[in-house]
Amino acid sequence: MVSYKDLGLVNTREMFKKAINGGYAIPAFNFNNMEQLQAIIKASAETKSPVILQVSKGARNYANQTLLRYMAQGAVEYAKELGWENPQICLHLDHGDSFELCKSCVDFGFSSVMIDASSLPYEENIALTKKVVEYAHQYDVTVEAELGVLAGVEDEVQAEESHYTKPEEVIDFATRTGCDSLAISIGTSHGAYKFKPEQCTRDPKTGRLVPPPLAFDVLDAIMEKLPGFPIVLHGSSSVPQEYVDMINQYGGKLPDAVGIPEEQLRKAAASAVCKINIDSDSRLAFTAAVRKVFWEKPGEFDPRKYCGPARDLMTELYKHKIINVLGSDGKA
Ligand SMILES: [Zn+2]
Repeated sequence: MVSYKDLGLVNTREMFKKAINGGYAIPAFNFNNMEQLQAIIKASAETKSPVILQVSKGARNYANQTLLRYMAQGAVEYAKELGWENPQICLHLDHGDSFELCKSCVDFGFSSVMIDASSLPYEENIALTKKVVEYAHQYDVTVEAELGVLAGVEDEVQAEESHYTKPEEVIDFATRTGCDSLAISIGTSHGAYKFKPEQCTRDPKTGRLVPPPLAFDVLDAIMEKLPGFPIVLHGSSSVPQEYVDMINQYGGKLPDAVGIPEEQLRKAAASAVCKINIDSDSRLAFTAAVRKVFWEKPGEFDPRKYCGPARDLMTELYKHKIINVLGSDGKA
């Protein structure tokens, strides 16, 4: 048993309380490799933003759960070296799908876990979530649950169509499970292809897809039922067109990739939404930077010469998200 407290990590409780009262949201960035983690920590340290490091099932398969945990531990020390005196860093399991997995993360130094039983029938979702909460809370580990289904593809999480969270269920769900935060479905979606062209309109000037707006009426109804309760948005990358263009310019092929407009996320961040998950945008930045190097310098074969620029572009992206979208700068 390793307590996250001994690793210098924090759970989400205080982070979320301050974020709701302050009208901003905590960034939850997924990481799979060293460059991504360096970029996240550098951006967070330079902006003094609390941050949630997320580990998905795909990341565990790719990078190994044990290695990722030690990387997060190292990230705390790296943050201090960068001059961040009191780093507010949470290590969070993204989309845990079983009690055993959540337990192993709690036992192994994670400070927060998500149990995603949203694909199960309502009563089974409650039962599994409650079981995880009861275990995690013994060790002061916070638990995120999910109600409603997001469309899209995120590693191994996949759903054909979304079902908005039903506001009439949230009080019963939160009360009976004891979860600390709730991921809801209001029209965000996993991946870089969040919407089919037929769900969107097209901007007549640029010819680019304009996605349907988020269901703020559903969010409002949920906040009315659960005042002050921490709400989480998954699938909230914006798929910046500059990266898509860069990728396509340097030999890639990403037709009609589309995300959630940043103005809508900023609006959500000012409400009870206190955690916003962003993964695809950093993948796009990484890929755009690497493609540019390969295109311009076909003879390059030192990974530091293309992973370095990728890291720099991701750092820029994370800082932009923190300052201009989430508003979490200066809060840690
Ligand atoms: Zn997700």
